[in-house]
Amino acid sequence: MNANWTWDLSSYFTDFASAERQEFEVALERDLTALLARAEALRAFDAEPWEALVLGYEELAKRLSHLGSYIGCLAAADGSNESYSLAEGRVADLRSRAERVLVELRRGFAAPSDEEFGQFCARPALAKAGYALGRLRKEGRESMAAGEEGVAAELSNFGIFGWGRLYDAVSGRLTFEMQYPDGRSEVLPVAQRRSLMADSDRKVREAAFRRGNEAWSSVTHILAPALNHIVGTRHCLNQRRGGLHFLDQAMHGAGVSRKTIDAMFEAVSDRIEIPRRGLRLKARMMGLEAISWFDLEAPFPIKGQTRVDFDRGVELVRTAFGRAYPRLQQHFDAMLSKRWIEAEPTKTKRPGAFCTGSDVTDETRVFMTFQGSLGDVSTLAHEVGHAFHAEVLAGSRVLERQYPMTLAETASTFAQAVLSEGLLSDSSLSVSDRALLLGEAVSEGAAFLLDVPTRFYFEKAFYEERLRGEVTPSRLSELMVEAQQKQFGSALSRGAEDPLFWASKLHFFIPDLSFYNFPYTFGFLLSRGMYALFKQQGSEFLPRYEHFLRLSGSALAHEVAMQSLGEDIESPAFWAGAIDTLIAPTNELEALFDSGKLNSR
Ligand SMILES: [Zn+2]
Repeated sequence: MNANWTWDLSSYFTDFASAERQEFEVALERDLTALLARAEALRAFDAEPWEALVLGYEELAKRLSHLGSYIGCLAAADGSNESYSLAEGRVADLRSRAERVLVELRRGFAAPSDEEFGQFCARPALAKAGYALGRLRKEGRESMAAGEEGVAAELSNFGIFGWGRLYDAVSGRLTFEMQYPDGRSEVLPVAQRRSLMADSDRKVREAAFRRGNEAWSSVTHILAPALNHIVGTRHCLNQRRGGLHFLDQAMHGAGVSRKTIDAMFEAVSDRIEIPRRGLRLKARMMGLEAISWFDLEAPFPIKGQTRVDFDRGVELVRTAFGRAYPRLQQHFDAMLSKRWIEAEPTKTKRPGAFCTGSDVTDETRVFMTFQGSLGDVSTLAHEVGHAFHAEVLAGSRVLERQYPMTLAETASTFAQAVLSEGLLSDSSLSVSDRALLLGEAVSEGAAFLLDVPTRFYFEKAFYEERLRGEVTPSRLSELMVEAQQKQFGSALSRGAEDPLFWASKLHFFIPDLSFYNFPYTFGFLLSRGMYALFKQQGSEFLPRYEHFLRLSGSALAHEVAMQSLGEDIESPAFWAGAIDTLIAPTNELEALFDSGKLNSR
């Protein structure tokens, strides 16, 4: 087959400059402004007008997703086009106005009694929106009085968001003097350190790490107060909002119960030697006693990887999907024939990959740059998985589709697992490609079960200490090293930790999101656990899996899992099964390495 690798966006609008597209935007802005004014004027809780407001919000959110998705596609494909980036700015402004309608809904829903609100949610026009509406009510009830929230929101621009911008300003200008092994040196922005720390030459990684940390240590006296003020603001607001615990707030945002996350981390602790063993194997393959922090991102030393063209990449994905999950293959075929995928490498493209879609047409688009590695083939399967999730949700109402970050990566990683399994069962796969795929699973195990939990435990310890007062830069570094040692154990060389990770990692300084990282461990293990169920139950599992995806925006994660899969994810057993799926790839990679068949460097 000859797959087309440029997308067709004409079903959104004939053209960016078309009158149709411009009128769509003008009408959307007009209607959104009117809806917001109506919302702000609403006072006492009365079912009729508040229901109309919910329906009005959903209608405009649909239209906004249509326009936003279209502009996002155009801007990603041509990063230098100024009209597209201006349009992106206008879309961001429309989004913030839609967000303000939600603020009004929270205010309105906080007022009625439980009984009155229950009756409201039972209205036929609001069928299946109950969970989303209940979340808004909970957020409304945990808010301060409207006037106080207004002042807090206004001041946040000079407070918590200001500290976030200060971080961006300091880190954006920070440079370090990179000393290459050949004696050459150059001054680089710290943003370039990350790719140097993934270099295959250990001396390059080490120099980038040490020189980079010298630069970071020169600004800790600015960054530590910024971090203290960000977390201090959160503590202050949580206390004012009825004494909310900082973890409960993060769990609510992620759509999970505390019990679920506790069960997950308990299973990770109980089975911590599984990912540690994977990391020790990586060290051995690299000829090291143990890993240093600057080795974590290094590639596995495996040579002779296959390159494939797009047609071959498509064929690999199709075959793997077709063998295990025919409906997924049909979906992929339909996307290809409708030209919903953009993969051609061009000079104007932005980096990265994503899946986007319109709630008006229920169409999706996948954006990526296909350059021929097996990693690119895997990215293709990943993004098509996202598109499949959207297809399963097609026709559902807007308030049913707002699944949390914890469940957002289920369908994508599941599709990747189908591909990887398909490739591994192909006897024509070369030894190095096989090792590469196994190495990917081992690396992911280390990233999601060692690195990400380290960040969680560090943040938790810091948040607790911050309740008692400001935490100094040296104490932050101590907490960081303690968390790294505890999680990595002997897989990480003593003294080779990264004490300044709290400063160099942007995630800790994001003003509008706390505990940014744990949903990644959750998503990784959830999809591995589900894939393990698929292997046990065979194709009978697939309708349950699709039911899971359909419910993903309709309840807390453990309720979704119970209703669709009959699995109790509030118990460590489910997570233990998911972690155990890493044993086989680690064993096989080790056997391949020990057999001497690997052409490693
Ligand atoms: Zn994704």
